[in-house]
Amino acid sequence: MIFSALFERRFWCRYLCPIGGMNGLFAKLSMTELRAQQGICSAECTTYQCYKGGPQKGEGLETTGCPLYSHPAQLEDNRDCVLCMTCLKACPHRLGGV
Ligand code: SF4
Ligand code: SF4
Repeated sequence: MIFSALFERRFWCRYLCPIGGMNGLFAKLSMTELRAQQGICSAECTTYQCYKGGPQKGEGLETTGCPLYSHPAQLEDNRDCVLCMTCLKACPHRLGGV
């Protein structure tokens, strides 16, 4: 509770919780995963709404950003993604896919 109060975005789940760590290992084997389209994310996007969140912009909805502080374009495996789809809702370019 103290870490959650001091640090945002599921600090406990990501770094300290043993169950979260075990879930992360199993998530690596998942048949579904979310990845961004690298070309547009790194070349055209200026807002990074998926990661930061913020008010509605273009086709992206208002969100608080990725709850795990992950950027879809930098995900290498599924360990730091819970498939909540917040990034998909927030993206003004309607990118990403599962
Ligand atoms: S997923 Fe969308 S909001 Fe996030 S970096 Fe890519 S284009 Fe930008
Ligand atoms: S699906 Fe959720 S946890 Fe995964 S990168 Fe997008 S916002 Fe973050």
